[in-house]
Amino acid sequence: MFKENFHTHTRYCDGKNTPGEMITSAINKGFTALGFSGHAFVKDFFCDWCMTEEKSLKYIDEINKYKKKYKDIIDIYCGTELDYFCTELPGEYDYTIGSVHYLHESGVYPAVDSSLREQHEAADRYYGGSLIEYAVRYFELIGGIAEKLNPDIIGHFDIVSKFNEGDCAFDTGDKKYINAWHDAVDRLLPYNIPFEINTGAIARGVRKTPYPALDIADYIQSKGGFFIVTSDCHDAACLDFFFDEVKEMYSKYNIVNFSDILKNKQ
Ligand SMILES: [Zn+2]
Ligand SMILES: [Zn+2]
Repeated sequence: MFKENFHTHTRYCDGKNTPGEMITSAINKGFTALGFSGHAFVKDFFCDWCMTEEKSLKYIDEINKYKKKYKDIIDIYCGTELDYFCTELPGEYDYTIGSVHYLHESGVYPAVDSSLREQHEAADRYYGGSLIEYAVRYFELIGGIAEKLNPDIIGHFDIVSKFNEGDCAFDTGDKKYINAWHDAVDRLLPYNIPFEINTGAIARGVRKTPYPALDIADYIQSKGGFFIVTSDCHDAACLDFFFDEVKEMYSKYNIVNFSDILKNKQ
């Protein structure tokens, strides 16, 4: 358990390392599987951390070469992290993660996970200055992601709370906020795909706990949902970041190996 990670980024998008460096790190950590999930091409607007069409094809080519090279040592998978607003996907992937990184209002795509300042600007412009209303809009999108993109994994379910450590920006106990994520979970559960326990924001020093918050994880678990553990890794040293802590914090939750799901799918 936890000797794998299917949410990782390389220099092909906004990661720090090459795929080869990531694989070396995974082998050194005793991993049995490693999945790459480069940010998928977005056609409708400029996304500086997403792969271009051309880069996507080179990425697939390189990862597939490594698959063969390391097949006796570690299972390598070529996936991609889709954004809600991805409309075209160049190439073939072993799996996809469905994530919301942007909202969409009046032809503009405000970024959700760039900064609190950007969240406030969008809230002021489109949601009457309310970060709760902003979050409600976010959960409408993530709640619809399985229906729209049919991904294999739900990415960082409550990333809208990235800059809200200790409820410093808005109250996660607000009824509207709770209703919004309840609705989103309820819409996603019938698809029977795992939610991530994602430690990425801790590695970046922005959060102290993984996504999703424990009350959300409780709700998912109580409704029969299940989880995989990832570190949304942008740095080879952080491939298993906070995994030991997750083992303790989330010990009562139904956590599975994503590699088992993929093997059953094949
Ligand atoms: Zn993401
Ligand atoms: Zn990611």
